Amino acid sequence: MTTLNSISGSAGSLGQFDPQALPVSAAQTIVLQWVTPLAQSERVPLRDALARVLARDVISPIDVPAHDNSAMDGYAFDGASLLAQAAPAGATLTLDVAGKAFAGHPYTGAIAPGACVRIMTGAPMPAGCDTVVPQERVEHSGSAEAVAVTFRADAVTPGANRRRKGEDLARGGVALRAGRVLRASDIGLMASLGIVDVAVKRRLRVAFFSTGDELRSPGEPLDAGCIYDSNRYTLGAMLQRLNAEPIDLGRVRDDPESLAATLKAAAESADVVLTSGGVSVGEADFTRTQLQTLGDVSFWGLAMRPGRPFAFGRIWSGGRPGAGRAALLFGLPGNPVATMVAFYQIVRPALIAMSGAAPQPMPLIPARCEMPIKKRPGRTEFQRGVAGRDAQGQWRVAPTGSQSSGALSTMSEANCFIVLAHESADLDAGDTVDIMLFDGLV
Ligand code: AMP
Ligand code: MG
Repeated sequence: MTTLNSISGSAGSLGQFDPQALPVSAAQTIVLQWVTPLAQSERVPLRDALARVLARDVISPIDVPAHDNSAMDGYAFDGASLLAQAAPAGATLTLDVAGKAFAGHPYTGAIAPGACVRIMTGAPMPAGCDTVVPQERVEHSGSAEAVAVTFRADAVTPGANRRRKGEDLARGGVALRAGRVLRASDIGLMASLGIVDVAVKRRLRVAFFSTGDELRSPGEPLDAGCIYDSNRYTLGAMLQRLNAEPIDLGRVRDDPESLAATLKAAAESADVVLTSGGVSVGEADFTRTQLQTLGDVSFWGLAMRPGRPFAFGRIWSGGRPGAGRAALLFGLPGNPVATMVAFYQIVRPALIAMSGAAPQPMPLIPARCEMPIKKRPGRTEFQRGVAGRDAQGQWRVAPTGSQSSGALSTMSEANCFIVLAHESADLDAGDTVDIMLFDGLV
């Protein structure tokens, strides 16, 4: 029985799993057990609500549409009685035009039996009318302004071209569910209900920093043996995409005091702390030791490539477990592609759950692989691929040339991950693989 009071114990207590070869799905499950969705919400104007997480169901205060209305430009009439009278088949109907109904300008006059109303799309259906015959189907009598129209009775059926009151949304019904990440259509939908502002979860505060004496920031000269810090920029950008509130704590030297101070400050200000680098077993990496001292952190070897070394736990602003404010900690591997893969696979679902949003799994699409791929069973691989549909509509994918976990250019070149499942072995050209596309439409 797993008791959820210590993270450093939880991988071991999962029994069948080796923390040094932890399947991706097991890591995702353990992480989600430690996530508590944010409780706090705030009201924001509709215009600022895009990509925010809805805190409560939105109940429709009105019927949409608010009244029966016309779906076409044409002539509205009492189809239920007039069409029934128009037997035999092929018979025509001639109706006097009593007046006009425009969107925003309803026709409110009386309509004599056997008359109709000129109506435009979106205009309210006049009382007593249930059917609209489209203007293309009628012959006019009269000059510019028709005084009567004639059409074949079998050109329309009773009730045709009428949109019903409440057909889109009924008053009192749930228009949008809590936990929804608001999209452009949702913003428009709420506007169509007359809603001015909306309760959303507050944004998740995510602090992050890079570790490594070899790192320099863009703008600084690149000293011998140094590299530019890219992870902090990728992380900041990925967090922006998730609409979290990124807190960039900069670049921290591989030295115990700076690391301890930064970790404590991070726990003080953020809900979640992300570090990059220093979680493998390198000599100069003090990140591991500091994390062990300051918090309850477990170090995993994920059965995943790239992205094997990984740390997960909690740290406290007071510098020891239980002291001060706690924040969830993810220690990402330093290699730039590994950082991104670990973020997408492990951190992203956790941040989504913590932000109060409903889970948003990334869909997998089957594709024919154009080249053989070497793959060892027992780990999930995320190769970078370029995918597209061929002339027959079949998805095809080819791995980018290099699969180095240090080559960020492979991520920029690719448009998808080729996801090679935990159990799968070598693949031949023409085999089917799953791909996870980078871009979504909305
Ligand atoms: P580490 O896990 O700290 O040993 O880092 C693994 C590899 O990733 C090393 O080659 C590091 O130089 C590189 N690396 C670590 N952090 C960053 C970073 N912020 N930006 C770019 N590369 C990094
Ligand atoms: Mg390092």
